[in-house]
Amino acid sequence: MSELPLESTVRGSKAQLAKLPSIDRILNWPAVSPLLGRYGRSFVTREARALLSEWRERALPDHSLADLDETRIVRALSERMEACVEPALRPVFNLTGTVLHTNLGRALLAEEAIARIVAAARAPANLELDLANGERGERDSLIESLVCELTGGEAATVVNNNAAAVLLTVAALAAKREVVISRGELIEIGGAFRMPDVMRSAGARMREVGTTNRTHARDYIEAIGPRTGLLMKVHTSNYVVRGFTASVDVTELALIAHRAGLPFAVDLGSGCLADLSAYGLPREPLPQEALASGADVVTFSGDKLLGGPQAGLIVGKSAWIGKIRKHPLKRALRVSKLTLAALEATLSLYRHPEQLAERLPTLRLLTRPTEEIAALAKRVAPALARAAGEMFVVEHRPLQSQIGSGALPEEVLPSAGVAIRCGNEGKGSGRRLQALAGRLRALPIPVVGRIADGAVILDMRTLTDEAGFVAQLSLLRAP
Ligand SMILES: *Cc1c(COP(=O)(O)O)cnc(C)c1O
Repeated sequence: MSELPLESTVRGSKAQLAKLPSIDRILNWPAVSPLLGRYGRSFVTREARALLSEWRERALPDHSLADLDETRIVRALSERMEACVEPALRPVFNLTGTVLHTNLGRALLAEEAIARIVAAARAPANLELDLANGERGERDSLIESLVCELTGGEAATVVNNNAAAVLLTVAALAAKREVVISRGELIEIGGAFRMPDVMRSAGARMREVGTTNRTHARDYIEAIGPRTGLLMKVHTSNYVVRGFTASVDVTELALIAHRAGLPFAVDLGSGCLADLSAYGLPREPLPQEALASGADVVTFSGDKLLGGPQAGLIVGKSAWIGKIRKHPLKRALRVSKLTLAALEATLSLYRHPEQLAERLPTLRLLTRPTEEIAALAKRVAPALARAAGEMFVVEHRPLQSQIGSGALPEEVLPSAGVAIRCGNEGKGSGRRLQALAGRLRALPIPVVGRIADGAVILDMRTLTDEAGFVAQLSLLRAP
């Protein structure tokens, strides 16, 4: 356990390196035979060759390769093979305090959705087959009536994510034309989703109106002309404009668009289908409200507050949805049967709002009682203290979690967790905290927290497998 990995200790002079055994000899060692059986000869040969060449490259003069006996070479090879076959995508503990963490895969699926994915993966499914008449069907029709029932839309279609939903909507409704949008809503969503770029990629021209903080009805009206194809409103999901501000609401924008004979699209970002205030949470705008207020098309994500799989939903008036569905990009952005299976199961849960907080993991985590989280933090703190070692001070404390994925960026949820500080907070403590965070990520089920206020912070709101978390702490390697 305490031994350093072999790779980091191997150094040797040119002459010593020449003494490294040949690949053939290594492959003929009896101790390598189980590796050949488990991983296959060509795979092991390739990795053994790579291992030897790495040692050769890293070799420095005046260092001894004396330790490099058969046992150690076999061990290094075996560790390397194990690392090679470890899945690249692995479950982790998200203790960041951000419930919908984009880098950690956003919403956790409900058991109902997971079961439906497994069933759809295992057997053929009527993805594009109308079972009533035996004719070719449309994959959207599998969830369309459910989406319409929940949102009040006339028609719906699904694509790979909400960025795709916006891209497709603009491409289908406004290619080669202008899209009128407020300067206050030109959002960038983490990474590469920026509204101006999306418009350009969709082949539309962005016609910005108003100013960053104030946009009025007359700004939209004056911008509408013969080249206009679409009016658009984007929910500024991940920032707030505060102070001397003005914006035009959905109802009024719909009137302005319709008077000019134009469609009006609203990008809501987080697709919250249930009124969160009913669960004691801050409110997010709902697709059903935007549609009732006159929006022709509404777009939102499947894996943010909706709590389903990664997807982009496009809901609205039949005529516009029909046009969107016929666009060639739709084929390129379509979703798989696995996504549809999970989405249908997730949406079905919304038919029972009284059970939603229990059955939908996203809502369950967001509504988790603070006292329960605090008690959990208190219980796991001693095990963390033992595992972290004497160099660190571990304490449980109140924290603030976030919803994440751009939803309600200013709202925090009272939470609790564990803070791990350096006992000696002098020079180098930042580096020691980074190292500790690295050791937590190196556990069999990596633990992902955050570093803030001179501590590694582990927010317990999202810890559901307490036993699994504690059980692996004994493996926290010494620095
Ligand atoms: C998150 C978000 C998007 C992008 O959605 P993805 O599902 O991540 O592609 C687009 N618009 C808004 C307003 C968003 O909040």
